Amino acid sequence: MSKPIASASRTREILTTYELRARKSYGQNFLIDVSVVARTADASHCEGAVIEIGPGIGSLTEQLALRSRHVRSYEVDERLLPVLEEELREYDNIEIILQDFLNCDLEVTVKKLEARYGTVSVCANLPYYVTTPILFKLFEGPEAVQYITVMIQKEVADRFSAEPGSSEYSALSVESQVLYRVKKLFTVPRTAFSPSPNVDSAVIQFERRPGIVADREFFELIRASFHQRRKTLYNNLKEYTGSSDMAETLIRESGFEAGVRAQELSPDEFVRLYQTKKRIEG
Ligand code: SAM
Repeated sequence: MSKPIASASRTREILTTYELRARKSYGQNFLIDVSVVARTADASHCEGAVIEIGPGIGSLTEQLALRSRHVRSYEVDERLLPVLEEELREYDNIEIILQDFLNCDLEVTVKKLEARYGTVSVCANLPYYVTTPILFKLFEGPEAVQYITVMIQKEVADRFSAEPGSSEYSALSVESQVLYRVKKLFTVPRTAFSPSPNVDSAVIQFERRPGIVADREFFELIRASFHQRRKTLYNNLKEYTGSSDMAETLIRESGFEAGVRAQELSPDEFVRLYQTKKRIEG
């Protein structure tokens, strides 16, 4: 039995054999800590089908394959394809797709995977330069994806999981917490990667809240409410709606104090604000 790909020695061996150098432009930092990778896969609810973004040389892919019925993994760097084919050849439940995840048809993919394997989750060590666009593609994607478990920069994880009133609480926190129960699972030191990045990471999990649909208009309202953090919600809404009357009515009819700031409102209060807006607009 060979060592797991995530072990430091096997990673080194693979990089040497294929004369590979990590590509910074693709955000390549390979995990070299088996326990971190195993813990991430264990937490991911991957028993049906799991979608991975960025397999790299396959460290997390392998651990997912050991725990799930099917792994569908998207990679942009074509140099990694022969490596993955060879190193993961003993697994027959892995499908590697050479494609930018941002261009895939998530709706169709999730539907097919769900029909065949029952559940669909997402688990990935995300490339940092596209963390937010990838997560927003998932947030706007099908509700069938119940769990998204991802490794991201610790600082960004803190923003997603921040509570109302804290300095990290932002539009990002509200947008994700309206749709998901957000849990920071554990932090990962920079030394768990090769090459080692300049910042620490964290594994964060988004568990879908049932029955909540957030459209672009709702996200727009949230972003507008935080537009100028130092200003009151009234001032931000006045600018967004172009009407002081409308801003005042929205705040009053949602049951908020006149001088409230966006950072004091909970995700559920933002849902109320949006519902008020929809009701007023008819
Ligand atoms: N999963 C591996 C690990 O944990 O060692 C590699 C993680 S590395 C941080 C990110 C991976 O995502 C790289 O393999 C990179 O080539 C790939 N990647 C970058 N942008 C991508 C995109 N838009 N779609 C799919 N994969 C991408």
